[in-house]
Amino acid sequence: MKNLAETVRNSADIVRVVSDYVTLKGTGATLKGLCPFHSEKTPSFSVHRDKQYFYCFGCGAGGDVFSFVMTIEKATFPESVRIVAEKFGISIPEQGVDDGKAEERKELFEALDRASNYFRKMLSGEEAGPARQILEKRKISAEFAERFRVGYAPAAGLLAALRPRDAVATGLFVRNEQGEIYDRFRRRLMFPIWNDRGKVIAFGGRAIGDVQPKYLNSSESPLYSKSNVLYALHVARNAAQKAGRMVVVEGYFDCLSLHQGGIENVVASCGTSLTQQQVAIMARYVPEIVMNYDPDTAGQNAMRKSIDLLLAKNLRVRILKLPGGLDPDDFIRREGGEVYSRLIADAPYFWQYLMTEAARQHDLDQPSAKADAVRDVLQCVAKIQDRVEQLEVARAVAEGFKVPEALVFESLHVSPRRPEVRPVVPKAAVAVRRTLSPSEKQLIHAVLQDQELGRQLEPFVDFLVEAWSRPILEQLFKDPARNLEVVLESVEDEELRSEVRAAVMEPFTQVSLEQALASVAQLRDAYLVKREMEIREQLKQCGSGAAPLELMKMQMDIARMKGLSLEKTR
Ligand SMILES: [Zn+2]
Repeated sequence: MKNLAETVRNSADIVRVVSDYVTLKGTGATLKGLCPFHSEKTPSFSVHRDKQYFYCFGCGAGGDVFSFVMTIEKATFPESVRIVAEKFGISIPEQGVDDGKAEERKELFEALDRASNYFRKMLSGEEAGPARQILEKRKISAEFAERFRVGYAPAAGLLAALRPRDAVATGLFVRNEQGEIYDRFRRRLMFPIWNDRGKVIAFGGRAIGDVQPKYLNSSESPLYSKSNVLYALHVARNAAQKAGRMVVVEGYFDCLSLHQGGIENVVASCGTSLTQQQVAIMARYVPEIVMNYDPDTAGQNAMRKSIDLLLAKNLRVRILKLPGGLDPDDFIRREGGEVYSRLIADAPYFWQYLMTEAARQHDLDQPSAKADAVRDVLQCVAKIQDRVEQLEVARAVAEGFKVPEALVFESLHVSPRRPEVRPVVPKAAVAVRRTLSPSEKQLIHAVLQDQELGRQLEPFVDFLVEAWSRPILEQLFKDPARNLEVVLESVEDEELRSEVRAAVMEPFTQVSLEQALASVAQLRDAYLVKREMEIREQLKQCGSGAAPLELMKMQMDIARMKGLSLEKTR
């Protein structure tokens, strides 16, 4: 596993892996983006191309490509090696990473892939006529149906075609009380549901005609959990990152039609309101969400519930309600992608939308109706995480409703006059925070830049006794070829690990041997000064009596060594 991980680490590119989750900007060695591990609006998350490292200056998360995948995918180390290997086309011996579940998952992926092919094939058959008519009516071109791998589940036949080892685990079959297994999807238009790597993990089936339920999903399986999935995410991801926003619609057809109309940053929630997991996934990629749900009551209620979750994740929320009471699918067919794009760009922020809706639904001249409306909007505004933004929105809401600002501030417990109350931090706690000295940082960079230089520093390991980063520098001096992340893993001091990761991300010019030796000398001197003071203290305790010769000698040695260039002691 160790060797395998090394091989994978050496062939992988952390920039490419991180880019699947975070929009990275910049062209040099260090790229920046919004941290996927904490909520932020200005990027403090950086990835270093040469060092194959990431670090967040906001929350301290950092590490190599595997640490990144482990954290973001909540994966174990073996899983993360597998995921990265897969991305870079490195084959992994099956027993190498077997966590017991790997084989089962692989089989399920294969079964679902075969099922997807089977459904696609069936779509051209005679029985699928009515299914094709639905696509035609929706003006979904054959090309797009193919691209989204739309298919058809016939009345029977999947079980025989698939012959899965564990039929029920695929989520495609149902076992009845008699223990018989039959197809879950019969006579349905089939939409494959993918994971974020584009592998089929489930299906959504739409009824042909008036059969209930109109939409049916695969049952939950080891691969599929409904609340964790956004339809078409792997297709929409790149466009969303580029646009800085993601559009969320309700249904498969909405999503498909918009993609066909050239709006590519669209995913479908395929359910009612968004779940916390879905929101967390979106927050990895974009700072802004535009919700475009159906105008019916169910859609609007679902959207309303989702706003709170989105705001809690520090996302900017805009709401698009299409004119004419149309859903996205109908609208884009009628008006085209360009008009839709414009509406997306101009979509009101959630609070503007809620105010307009309140004015539309209630007579705001009635004091009680107005009070209800204000309270309603403020309930959402209260969820805005950024206090400055919240204050601005509160002002706008007060103005829009023509109510005194003070009243709005009071109900939100914000005040523009009172300085923000900060928790009192005990002085001691502040003083405890340690930092790496410039010399330590320089030495870490020196070894990372040039292993040969690292080797030349080895004889001076003993001079580092006083350096906080000694456990790390020591290992790097002794074996400069070692992967820094491996070294860090061997150290227990969490704070130190984090500081070193931060230091690695700082830009650094090439360090020469002379500079490196000067840094070692500085660390040595820091140690000597401390020793000198200790000796002086000991000497003082001897009083007027004769000082032990040993101490005197030590003091002299120290005085001689201090400031001595290391070139001479080599
Ligand atoms: Zn962070």
